[in-house]
Amino acid sequence: MLKAGAAASGPDAGRDAGRYIGRFAPSPTGPLHAGSLVAALASWLDARAHGGRWLVRIEDVDTPRCVPGAAENILQQLAQCGLVPDEAPWWQSRRGAAYTLALQALQAQGQAYPCGCTRKAIEAHWLALGVAHVPEAERIYPGTCRPERGGLQGRPPRAVRFRADGPPQHWQDRRLGAMQQDVAAEVGDFVLQRADGLWAYQLAVVVDDAAQGITHVVRGEDLADNTARQLLLQQALGLPRPSYLHTPLVRAADGRKLSKQNGAAPLDQHDPVAALRQAGRVLGLPPLQAPSPAQWLAAAVAAWAQVFGPPP
Ligand code: GLU
Repeated sequence: MLKAGAAASGPDAGRDAGRYIGRFAPSPTGPLHAGSLVAALASWLDARAHGGRWLVRIEDVDTPRCVPGAAENILQQLAQCGLVPDEAPWWQSRRGAAYTLALQALQAQGQAYPCGCTRKAIEAHWLALGVAHVPEAERIYPGTCRPERGGLQGRPPRAVRFRADGPPQHWQDRRLGAMQQDVAAEVGDFVLQRADGLWAYQLAVVVDDAAQGITHVVRGEDLADNTARQLLLQQALGLPRPSYLHTPLVRAADGRKLSKQNGAAPLDQHDPVAALRQAGRVLGLPPLQAPSPAQWLAAAVAAWAQVFGPPP
C-alpha cells in the first residue's frame, strides 16, 4: 500500500452533510487495552464532534480466536470509560444470512469463485518461481483457481475468493492523506469465505458497515491496508463508500502494534480517566484534567472538533 500524497490538512469534506453514523468494531479476542481504547475513543469523539451516532459491532466471526466473555468484558470496559453505544451492539456471529446473500450476489456476477488451493500450494507456486517469502506477509494469490484458468480442476473447493481485477483504488484518509493500493498486484484475489467455512473479515465488515448505515469509519492504522479491498467489495455490491480515518497505533516495546500477545495490559478499571488521558495523548489531544470520564470526554470532544470536526 502506498501513501499517494501529502496529509490532508482540513476536516473531511463532509459526506452526507448532517448525517453521521460511526462505529467501533472490536474482535472479542481479549479485553480492551491501551491500543484498542485509542480506536474506540477516536471513533466516539469523531461521532460526537459531528453530532452523530456511535455504534458498537462485535466482530466475532473468527470463532477460533474469540475468547468467551471477552465481548461482554469489552462492553463493560467501554462503559466504565463513558463510551456507551447509541444502540444495542450488533454481533457478526448472528449475521451469517446477510453474508450468504452478499456472497451469492458476487458469485452470480462472476466476481467470486471457489478456490481449492492450500496455503502450502500457494507458497510452492511462488517458491517455484524463485520469489522469496517475506515473513508475516500474506502471499499474493496467483489466481490458480480462476474459472478462465480451468477452475478447480478436480481440487476439492476450500475457500471462496473475490476476483480483485479492478483498477488501483484511491481514497482520502482524513489523517494519512491520499492513499492508493493496486489490490490485483499487491494482494491478488482475496478470501471471502475461508476453507473452514468462516466468513472473512473483508466481506463481513463491508456488508455490516453498509447495513448499519456507517458514514465514517475511524479505526486503527493497522487496518489501513484493508481499505482498498473493502472499496472493491463496496463497488461490486453497489454499496456506499464511507469516509476513512485511521488512528495512530500504540506500539509495544518491540516496536510492533500493541496486542495481548506482546504484553498489552488490560486497562486499569479503577482509573478510567487515566486510561482516557493516555489514549488522548496518542491521538494528539492536549492533556485534559477532569474528575470523571464524562467530564473528560466533554473536554476531549471540543479538542477533537478543532482538528477533525465538521467545517464551522
Ligand atoms: N474487528 C477489527 C479489529 O478488531 C476492526 C475492524 C474495523 O474496524 O474495520 O481489528
